[in-house]
Amino acid sequence: MKVRDVISKSAEYLSRVSDDPRLEAELIVSHSLGKDRLWLYMNMDQEIGECELGRIRELLKRRRKDEPLHFLLGYKEFMTLKFRVERGVFIPRFETEELVERVVMISREKGYKTFLDLGTGVGTIAISIAKFVVGSIVHGVDTSEKALKLAEENALVNEVKNVVFHRGDMIEFLKERLDDFEVVVSNPPYLSESEWTNLDDGIKFYEPMEAFVAGKDGMKFYRMIVENIVDRKGKKVFLEISPPRKENIVKLMEKFKLNYRILDDLSGRSRILFFET
Ligand code: GLN
Repeated sequence: MKVRDVISKSAEYLSRVSDDPRLEAELIVSHSLGKDRLWLYMNMDQEIGECELGRIRELLKRRRKDEPLHFLLGYKEFMTLKFRVERGVFIPRFETEELVERVVMISREKGYKTFLDLGTGVGTIAISIAKFVVGSIVHGVDTSEKALKLAEENALVNEVKNVVFHRGDMIEFLKERLDDFEVVVSNPPYLSESEWTNLDDGIKFYEPMEAFVAGKDGMKFYRMIVENIVDRKGKKVFLEISPPRKENIVKLMEKFKLNYRILDDLSGRSRILFFET
């Protein structure tokens, strides 16, 4: 079968599970052939052999069972870097790039060099800051052994040496080591229990609940982070938030009389909380 026919048949097969079946088909086909998407466009009439078709079929079947595309490909792009992911870890989300971009921009301007990333997962935020803020030292902490193993690999693959990962409870780590850092960053779990219940099966089945859910109201980590930072003066804190958390976040900031700002993402939704202590 020719490349063009494999792509169109694959796209058709994925149309039930995907919002962009053509793109996903191209990514699965090119990945299975060990090529990039440009190669596909230049070789539409090339015949694909049985062995490669077998590989493609296997990935298509997994995708039809709702497994996220990035677990099939084994990586996710973030801030132009490639991050390895596999089943059972949180897949970095596009929105989080906006948090990282702000942190990088402001830190370059103000000269911040020491960063702590709470709940670092596969290391996306920590590694991106380490890569784009020259002379920085970034520490990332997470409870998931699997995610941290990938984070270490991701640092190597992206040739980042100024990052250190720790396994443990992020709040305990924050309490013990906060003095070593000027900036605290986090994309913590922030869904309420009912928001989790309403998510797509593909997420609920393949990604870890603990990376998403933060108690009944989704506020657990914001509360704990704030309570453990407020008394330590001179810290800059950047946290990802979601629009449904905004009201409670504002209350939390006012309760502790913090100097804060909530910034929108590109689609105009409240996405970043910044405060200083
Ligand atoms: N910090 C990681 C990321 O944003 C993981 C976030 C999480 O597990 N909630 O990609």
